[in-house]
Amino acid sequence: MSKRRILVTGGFGFIGSYVVEELLAEPTNHIHVVDNLSTSPIDLSAYLKLQGDPKNLKYDICSVEEYCQNKAKNKHFDQIYHLASVVGPVGVLPHAGKIVSAIINDTNRMMDLGLRWNAKVVDVSTSEVYGGGRDGYCSEKDFKVIQPKVTVRLEYAVGKLASEIALINTTRVTSLVASVVRPFNVAGPRQSGKGGFVLPRFIAQALATEPLTVYGKGDMIRAFTHVKEIAQGVILTMERGLNGEAYNIGNPANKTSILELARRVIAVLESKSEISFVDPKTLFGPLFEEANDKYPDADRAMMELGWRPSRGIDDIIRDTASYIRTNRKA
Ligand code: UDP
Repeated sequence: MSKRRILVTGGFGFIGSYVVEELLAEPTNHIHVVDNLSTSPIDLSAYLKLQGDPKNLKYDICSVEEYCQNKAKNKHFDQIYHLASVVGPVGVLPHAGKIVSAIINDTNRMMDLGLRWNAKVVDVSTSEVYGGGRDGYCSEKDFKVIQPKVTVRLEYAVGKLASEIALINTTRVTSLVASVVRPFNVAGPRQSGKGGFVLPRFIAQALATEPLTVYGKGDMIRAFTHVKEIAQGVILTMERGLNGEAYNIGNPANKTSILELARRVIAVLESKSEISFVDPKTLFGPLFEEANDKYPDADRAMMELGWRPSRGIDDIIRDTASYIRTNRKA
């Protein structure tokens, strides 16, 4: 197989680190990561060591903007994975008012590079674009919902949606080839609780025999997917995704309420933790907002990409807990 040159923005982020790991398994891939480490959950030198300090992995620690302005000039890549973004229900809050422009500008930069290099772009968007879909059921075929209340989460959702639309329209009027991925709740080793994500928080709380902080009544519905399977979905989208199409990547079989999830974490880890019901605004301030129920219709990814998620919630909990235990000791 001939050499394939691949640019991965956000390649040291939670999902990105697994995409890179998976791409490294193919020795003909030459991977270049652009990441400013702003939301990276990994210790970079430990990560590189774990990968065996591969010669086919290079990187620039800088923003997408800086990379495009100063470093991309004499480069050429065959594929672009665009994952760099602000992220997380708590992680986005400090960026209020600047989220839309940041997301759209970076996606525009990737479109320009894709056109210049004749490289396919895979844009990693979010399931938040559905705004909760049809009572939580989110299908690519359905209408999207724009919630009435203006929140920071809404700014993130519409920024991602606007970028998707611009990218897809560009594939219709230029030679750009691009597909979009909409990941649903991603979980697994390396995820940081700092962004606000529920599973690393619950698991760390259960391991420390602290109360699990369930927000509201815990009746929100989500479907969780192991990060390794999300990374496989992202790569399949590059390999098989149709031009100008968007794909849900999320495992509907792992649909659960958050209260059930908390109980599952306690049971699987045999923890003596209790459950406490809290108002998240008391923890993160008035800008924090809950998202509507959401779970994916994954038929398109399964049929068109051949994506087959198989890891259940207990497996995700065990895998994440073993990572948290090891890294706490380190
Ligand atoms: N959640 C919770 N306790 C926590 C963190 C999150 O009950 O300590 C809830 C949150 O309100 C949401 C669900 O868990 O209903 C998933 O939250 P996460 O932030 O992981 O993802 P998102 O809300 O963006 O889907």
